[in-house]
Amino acid sequence: MSSPDLISELQTRGMRLVDPRAGHESRRGGAGPSDHKAVTIGATTVMVPVHTAPAFESPFLVEAPAQDGSSRITRDGVEVARVSFPGRPRFYDLKTADGIPYSHIATLHSRNVLATTVLQTCIRYESRKKTCQFCAIGQSLAAGRTIAHKTPEQLAEVARAAVELDGIEHMVMTTGTPAGSDRGAAVLAESARAIKAAVNIPIQGQCEPPDDDAWHQRMADAGIDALGMHLEAVTPEVRQRIMPGKASVPLEKYFDSFEAAVRVFGRGQVSTYILAGLGDTAEAILDISQKLCTMGVYPFVVPFVPISGTPLESHPAPSAGFMASILRPLGEMIVKAGIRSADIKAGCGRCGACSALSTYEKL
Ligand code: SF4
Repeated sequence: MSSPDLISELQTRGMRLVDPRAGHESRRGGAGPSDHKAVTIGATTVMVPVHTAPAFESPFLVEAPAQDGSSRITRDGVEVARVSFPGRPRFYDLKTADGIPYSHIATLHSRNVLATTVLQTCIRYESRKKTCQFCAIGQSLAAGRTIAHKTPEQLAEVARAAVELDGIEHMVMTTGTPAGSDRGAAVLAESARAIKAAVNIPIQGQCEPPDDDAWHQRMADAGIDALGMHLEAVTPEVRQRIMPGKASVPLEKYFDSFEAAVRVFGRGQVSTYILAGLGDTAEAILDISQKLCTMGVYPFVVPFVPISGTPLESHPAPSAGFMASILRPLGEMIVKAGIRSADIKAGCGRCGACSALSTYEKL
C-alpha cells in the first residue's frame, strides 16, 4: 500500500492501541484534531483517530513499542507499517506564575506545531440549534483541560517556552467566534502582537471572515503570517444541516474575504479547511477547490472524524477510496496552481497532519 493510501486508511478507520497507555499523548475534545494521536510514519507525522467510534472497530492494531521505541501497526496480523510517536513535550511540565498548566493554554499538534484556541467559547456553540454539529470546542473547557480565554501574555509565555524547550516551528491560533463584527480577528491580532514580541515564530490565525476587510491588514501588521477561514462544508444543503449557525454567513462573503486576504497575505498563505464525508460530493469539493486554487487559496481537505460527545459522534467517517478520489486530483491542482503545502509559512496547510493531501502533492 502506498503511503498516501495508508495514511487515508488510518485517518478514516482509526487505530486500536494494544497498550492504551503506550506512553503516548493523545487529545480528547476541543477544536482541531480531537480524539487523535500523532503518529510518525517514515518522515511524515499524521494525526490518526484513537478515541472515536470507528477507531474502536478499526482493523489497524498498534502493538506495544519495541525497545527502540518503534511500534508495529498490523492489519489482520500482517505488518503494514512501523511507526513512532512524538514524545511528550517538555513545556507541558510548566505552569504560569498563577498556577495554570501550560498545556491548558496551548498544545502540541503533530510533532512541531503549537496550537491554541484563544477563545474557548463561541456564539455558534451556545444553542444546540446553531452549533456546528462536528465541533467539540466546549468539551475540553467543561472537562477543565483548558481555560476560556488565553491572554496575550499567557500565549507569549507558552510560545517562547515551546520554541526554546521543544523546537516548535510554527503556531496555529484558532478561536471560537465572539459576538463582535470582527469575528475574532481582534483577539487574534492582539495575541499575535504579544507572541511576536516574545519569540520569532510564524503564526497562522483562523477565524470567520471579518465584516470589514481592513482586519486582514491589521492581523498581518500584528504578526500573523497566514490566515485560515474555514468553509468546512461547501454545498448549501450540507452547510445548513451541519452548521446551521455558521451557514448564515453566505459563501459569497467567504469568497470576498478570501480575495481581500490573498491581497494582504499573498497567494498560498490563505487557506480553508474542508471536511470531506459530511455529504458534499467529491465533484462539489473539487469544483470549489479549483475556484479556490485559481484565487490562490489553499483548500485543505481533510477526512471528517466523528468526535465522541458531539451530535455527529455516530456519523460514519468517509471511506479511504472517497478520500483518494478527492485528494489525488486535488494534489495535482494545487501543484499546478503553485500553492503547495511546503510553501505555506504556518498553520494547518503547512502542518498537513490531518490529511494525506500533502503526500499527494509530492507524487
Ligand atoms: S493540520 Fe492543523 S489541526 Fe491538524 S494537527 Fe496540524 S495544526 Fe493541528
